[in-house]
Amino acid sequence: MTNTERPARTRFAPSPTGYVHIGSMRTVIFEWLWARHTGGQFVLRIEDTDRNRYVEGAEDQLKESIRRMGLMWDEGPDVGGPFAPYKQSERLDLYHRHADELLAKGHLYKCWCTPERLKQVNEEKQARKEPPGYDRHCRNLSPEERAELEASGKQYVIRLAVPLEGETIVNDLIRGPITFQNALQNDMVMLKSDGFPTYHFAVVVDDHEMQITHAMRADEWIATSPLHVMLYQFFGWEQPVWVHLPNVLGADGKKLSKRHGDTAITDYLDKGYLPEALLNFLALIGWGYDETTEIMTRDELIERFTLDRISPSGGVLNLEKLNKFNGIYIRQLSTAELTERLLPYLADAGLVGAEPSAAERARIEELVPLIQERLVVLSEAPDLLRLVFTAPDSYDHALLIPKKLDASTTQQALHAATAALRELPSWEVAVIEARLRSLTEELGLKVGDLFMALRVAATGSKVSPPLFETMHALGREETLTRLERAIASLGAVGTAA
Ligand code: GLU
Repeated sequence: MTNTERPARTRFAPSPTGYVHIGSMRTVIFEWLWARHTGGQFVLRIEDTDRNRYVEGAEDQLKESIRRMGLMWDEGPDVGGPFAPYKQSERLDLYHRHADELLAKGHLYKCWCTPERLKQVNEEKQARKEPPGYDRHCRNLSPEERAELEASGKQYVIRLAVPLEGETIVNDLIRGPITFQNALQNDMVMLKSDGFPTYHFAVVVDDHEMQITHAMRADEWIATSPLHVMLYQFFGWEQPVWVHLPNVLGADGKKLSKRHGDTAITDYLDKGYLPEALLNFLALIGWGYDETTEIMTRDELIERFTLDRISPSGGVLNLEKLNKFNGIYIRQLSTAELTERLLPYLADAGLVGAEPSAAERARIEELVPLIQERLVVLSEAPDLLRLVFTAPDSYDHALLIPKKLDASTTQQALHAATAALRELPSWEVAVIEARLRSLTEELGLKVGDLFMALRVAATGSKVSPPLFETMHALGREETLTRLERAIASLGAVGTAA
C-alpha cells in the first residue's frame, strides 16, 4: 500500500464569513470523496478566529449547505469526535500553549509595534518602492528593551521569526515541489493582541492535532503555504500531504465570481438542481475519471476518485452541461420520488398546500410523467403544471386561431373536436390521439393547426406538456369544459365582428 492509499483524514475548514461558494463546495466534494475512497474520515472545522469577518448565521448556513448536498462530516460541530471541539474559537488554550513552545525556542517573537507605526513603516516602504511588510523592529530589540516592554503591560502580537536566508519547499501533490525564498517572506502575525490566533497559526496546529493527512484547499493558499511549512518544521511535526486544488472558472476563463451569475451553492439547490447531479457535475471540475465517462453515481465517484487525476489547471463551470446532467438525473427518478422533490416548489407556488394531502400528492403523481421528460430544473415545474392545474382565465386569440384559419373556422374545428371527444369510448391517451388525428383528415386541416388550437384551448398556452397526455391528465370533463370556453370566446369575437 502506498502512503496515499492509507485511510485519509481530510478536512473542510471554512471561515464563517458568508454563503458557501460553489467552488468551495467542489473543495468539500474532493475532500469528502478522498476520505470515502480511502475509508478515512472527513472533518468539518470552523475557522472562526477572525472576529472582524465573523458573520452571524454563516456557520449554520454552511452546515446546511453541506447537508443539503447529501454530504455529511464524520467529525465536527454537532456530531463531535475524538478531537473536539471543532471550532477554533473554543480551542484558544491550545494555540497559546503551542505559541509558548515556539516563543521559548525563538521561532516566534512578541511585537509591541502600534498600528500607527506599522502604517508609517509601510508608507515609507511604498515611497522607496519596496514591497509592504513588517520591518522586524521588535525581532531586533535588545534584551533590555524587550524586558522593559514586557514589564510595561502594553498590548502585543506574536510574530513568526521567518528564517532570513535559504528557501522553503512546499511539496504540492498536484503541482510538485514549489520553492519559496525565505528572504521574501514576511514575519506574519501568529497570535493577535486579542489572544486569537491568525489563520496561519491555527490551521497548522489544528491540522496536526486533528491528524489531518491531506490538507486539501483552494490554490489561493499556495502563496502563504511556506509559512505553514516553516511552522511544521519549527514544531518538528510531520507535514500533511499538500493538495492545492484548481480553481472553478467562469465561461470567460476567469475565477468564478458574482459577475458570472450565481455563485452560492444554495442558489443552485434552490433552483432545483438535484444534489446528486451537482455532486457528479462538480466532481468533474478539475478532476476526471477518463476522457469520456461523465455520469457517475455517488458510489462510482467514491470508487474512482483518486488525487492523481486532479488537474493543476482550473476547470470551467459550464451551465449547459449542468443543465444536461440535471435533466439526466431528473429522468432517472421514479415518479414517486420526483413528486416528493417537486412538492415544496408546488407548495411555494400555491398549487398544493404546505402539507400536501394524499389526494394532492396522488394528483401530482399523475401529472409528473407529463413534465419529467422536459424538466431542466425542479423550479420550472409550477409553471408547467399550472397550465394543467388552473383553467385559462381568458384566451389570446392570436394564439388560439391558427394562421390559415379565422375565428369562425377555428370555432367549427374546435366544435367538431369537442363532439368527437365527448363520444370517445374511453379516455386513454392513444384513443384521444387516434381520434383527433382522424378528425384532422375529416376536416381537411393540417395536424399542426388543429393540435395547436386544441393545445391553446386546453391550456391557454402554446407551450405545454404533451397535448394528449395533458388532456388525459385533465380528465374528459375538464377538457371539454375548457374547449367549450375557448369556443365561446371565439363566438364573442364573431359577434363583435
Ligand atoms: N479558513 C480557510 C478558508 O476559509 C481555510 C483554508 C484551508 O483549508 O486551509 O478558506
